Amino acid sequence: MARRKLIAGNWKMNNSNKEALELVNSLKDLVKDVKDRDIMIAPAFTCLSDVYNAVKGTNIKLGAQNLYFEEKGAFTGQISADMLLSVGCEYVIIGHSECRDIFGEKDELINKKVKRALDKNLIPVLCVGEHLEEREKGITSDIVSSQTKEAFKGLTETEAKKVVIAYEPVWAIGTGKTATPQDADDVHKTIRETLKSVYNESVSDNAVILYGGSVNEKNADDLLNMPNIDGALVGGASLVSDKFARIVNYIAK
Ligand code: PEP
Repeated sequence: MARRKLIAGNWKMNNSNKEALELVNSLKDLVKDVKDRDIMIAPAFTCLSDVYNAVKGTNIKLGAQNLYFEEKGAFTGQISADMLLSVGCEYVIIGHSECRDIFGEKDELINKKVKRALDKNLIPVLCVGEHLEEREKGITSDIVSSQTKEAFKGLTETEAKKVVIAYEPVWAIGTGKTATPQDADDVHKTIRETLKSVYNESVSDNAVILYGGSVNEKNADDLLNMPNIDGALVGGASLVSDKFARIVNYIAK
């Protein structure tokens, strides 16, 4: 089945408000003619409002890099789904390996965040992926399958169909190492099989599964032409407008 590609940029903890606006204004021009692919950028929370005003009415959608699952209240430093909606977000990245590894986010918390995002009509971009030791032990499939099942726990079929998944091998993030297109495609297939076993073929076929991990303007064409890769979640290269635009404009073969 034909799934629409999504190219997403995770800006992480980079860019002042001024820098964010310079980046998005330059990007807007470079991708303005793209109609057949979805484009999303996830700036830091502090820039969301101004970046939203810059992209409103364009083909660039806004995402956040995280949320907290509670509605509101005494959760210092946290950001709710309603707050993200109020500044124009449509997507939210959940379970990024940096949040799992540096900030100790566990599957149970990630599942609550996915549910909250869906309740509020935000599209979760759920990140899963193995560490290098896990790949070397040959347990990549077990890890991504278990992370997927835990994050989807309790979701209805309709909800499950709304979740975007990003397969991000941890050893490939920010390291310049990428999974080969075939390796990445194989893991994406494993994720589809997991969704088929938990739900059905329709959920599995519909799932938009991005690859992330040192995607750049040079390797994007090879990765994005694989049959099970439906887009990219891009870190470093999303901070340079012409590199990210080249990834968005990857050449379909
Ligand atoms: C990411 O942070 O999601 C990521 C994939 O980063 P990079 O592209 O820099 O490896």
